[in-house]
Amino acid sequence: MKKFISILGSTGSIGTQALKVIQRLGYTVSALSAFRNIDLLEKQVRAFRPALVSVYDETAARELRERLKRFKDVTVLSGKEGNLAVATEPTADMVLTSMVGMIGLEPTIAAIRAGKDIALANKETLVCAGQLIMDLARKKGVNIYPVDSEHSAIFQCLQGKRNNTVKKIWLTASGGPFRGFTRDQLRHVTKEQALHHPNWSMGAKITIDSATMMNKGLEIIEARWLFDVPQKDINVAVHPESIVHSMVQFEDNAILAQLGVPSMEIPIQYALTYPDRVETEDALLLDPFEKSLHFERADDTTFPLMSVCRKALDMSGLMPAVANGANEAAVELFLNDVIDFYQINEAVESSFAAFSANKQTYTIKDVIEADQTARFHVYAKYL
Ligand code: MG
Repeated sequence: MKKFISILGSTGSIGTQALKVIQRLGYTVSALSAFRNIDLLEKQVRAFRPALVSVYDETAARELRERLKRFKDVTVLSGKEGNLAVATEPTADMVLTSMVGMIGLEPTIAAIRAGKDIALANKETLVCAGQLIMDLARKKGVNIYPVDSEHSAIFQCLQGKRNNTVKKIWLTASGGPFRGFTRDQLRHVTKEQALHHPNWSMGAKITIDSATMMNKGLEIIEARWLFDVPQKDINVAVHPESIVHSMVQFEDNAILAQLGVPSMEIPIQYALTYPDRVETEDALLLDPFEKSLHFERADDTTFPLMSVCRKALDMSGLMPAVANGANEAAVELFLNDVIDFYQINEAVESSFAAFSANKQTYTIKDVIEADQTARFHVYAKYL
């Protein structure tokens, strides 16, 4: 079946790879959104001819509208409303959420409310409002398909499990560019080093999150919601080759794993074509003779943000949104050379004390407020 797909965040790393997959599959693009990279967005519009595009930045949207004047059948919107329109574009069967950060929350919720299946690449959304999103998806009969490689691996391992109980989830982690570093060494690393991931080519925010291991913390929270497994049953195994994308341990202690080359194209495609598997390129074939596989325990002391995320899950309610908001603000400050690498840890660790209004039942408005409070705490601390 050929599907109609809308993409939130089409000019980022996941968005561009998704369009490559969509082209290979012969699917139709219903709508696209970007933050402000209109040079790339213009090319995408010319190639895929969506009926609707949105650019978050108002000025850039005006410029794109001018450039696409000749395309009478393409509407160009902007701002928050533009994102919501892309999320709910009527012809789409599925929305791929690949924008970066908590800004993806409202469009994701709008897409679920409109009954669209979700290919979830925006993990921050599920981290911040997991309970709310999963409840809403159930109510609307909407499927959420993971795109994150670890969660796609788990999802694949769970196919055909019938009524078997998942005993443990094993999330694998590459360990990032600073695997094996000491705390002291981490105090002197540069932005260039942090942005140089050994295995994966990704956007700047997630690459920094991989270097601090916050990414794995966020993925623990993401897994908790996607697979309804308590955090204590989610283990992390550092696996430097990034070939085993994650594992599931069942009640009989059998462990299933999914293996593949470190490319996002396979998990993106599986989310789009599920339950079918469709041919990909030979370049995406793993040669098992080429690699040895290694596994190590994660170093929670040198990389404290995984434990901070576990604590946020234990406290539950709005605390994951607080940890995520503080991290987004801290990574932004780090990328703008305002703080050092290790201060990202301090910023996130200290954010819990800045938020005293936790509650277990919450609205979208509460999540946005918790996020804002955490960001403000970080900006006030360092600016
Ligand atoms: Mg991942």
